[in-house]
Amino acid sequence: MRVAVVGAGVMGCAAAWALRERGADVTVHEQFDLDTARGSSHGRSRIFRIAYPEPYWIRLAQEAYTGWRDLERASGEQLLGLYGLVELASDRTLTSARALDECGVSYRLLDADEVRSLGAVLPEGWTALRTEDAGVVFADRARHAFLDVAGADVRTGSRVESLDELDADAVVVTAGPWVGQLVPGVPVHVTRETLAYFHREGPPPPSIVDLNAETGGHGMYSLHDPVHGLKAGAHHAGSPAEPDSDGAPDGAIVARISAWVRERFPDVDPEPVEMDTCLYTTTADQSFVLDRRGNVVVGSACSGHGFKFAPAVGRRLAELATA
Ligand SMILES: Cc1cc2nc3c(=O)[nH]c(=O)nc-3n(C[C@H](O)[C@H](O)[C@H](O)COP(=O)(O)OP(=O)(O)OC[C@H]3O[C@@H](n4cnc5c(N)ncnc54)[C@H](O)[C@@H]3O)c2cc1C
Repeated sequence: MRVAVVGAGVMGCAAAWALRERGADVTVHEQFDLDTARGSSHGRSRIFRIAYPEPYWIRLAQEAYTGWRDLERASGEQLLGLYGLVELASDRTLTSARALDECGVSYRLLDADEVRSLGAVLPEGWTALRTEDAGVVFADRARHAFLDVAGADVRTGSRVESLDELDADAVVVTAGPWVGQLVPGVPVHVTRETLAYFHREGPPPPSIVDLNAETGGHGMYSLHDPVHGLKAGAHHAGSPAEPDSDGAPDGAIVARISAWVRERFPDVDPEPVEMDTCLYTTTADQSFVLDRRGNVVVGSACSGHGFKFAPAVGRRLAELATA
């Protein structure tokens, strides 16, 4: 079976890997180069976690965990850095405790001294919940490992203007923020998000997500960065953006991230040493669009939390494409 994949972000790379697992003949079309910073998958690290307030996401993360381990074995690369995850919440009911209990996943509640020993501060009256099967996925290494193991025909600088131009039995569209240009009616909106890096010494810290009472989801977050030590960001803080337009880090968001780092990590210099932007492609309820329409399969799996799920998303897209 001949399958064309549009887009070599992490979802296109994962789809190519999973399609090759099924013996398909795969061609990947990427409009830019493989390490483009124009989309959503660039950079050195992303948070990997099993902990989510809903069992659906916990089970999908567990499926992805197995996939990451499979890819590590096949590529010989370390792709996960399991330094742990700590949820900090003003109210315990915001944490993933109930869903983790339902899924039989173990966790520990930490006190202020334990959080402080991790280099962070637990605000008065807050709850800290730690899980172990979590930390980071090494993003750029992961994208390359998918493609190296897949051994697919990857064409960079190959922008697909219309799906009709593709000579294939099936087409998988993993075009990230550009999905609307190729497949009308996919219910997403695009924002340009800002993140910052901070100089931090010492062993990799656990990833941290501040659970936000207003949204019920996570607000500020931080994770290990292999170069500077700490990466931090504000979830869903960005402004609407056109994928083909360029954009710079938002100064007001950088200031907000810096203030949060000053408060949460008193041992870290809150002056950013590097800043970057990245695009979110978000659905109303942050769910993923994994859908087949004729011989076209759409994979829109972002909403700012998709990377960790890539092996599971890739395998589901391959299943849809070869059905
Ligand atoms: C700031 C930020 C922080 C994040 N943090 C986390 C995190 O901690 N944990 C986590 O799990 N997830 C996180 N995410 C989400 C995760 O990075 C995304 O869900 C994931 O990268 C989406 O990948 P994608 O392949 O769908 O999109 P993209 O990476 O955007 O890939 C789409 C590709 O398609 C190409 N393309 C588009 N149109 C065409 C065309 N017509 N022809 C050819 N090529 C085309 C583009 O050039 C692009 O390379 C974060 C995202 C951002 C922005």
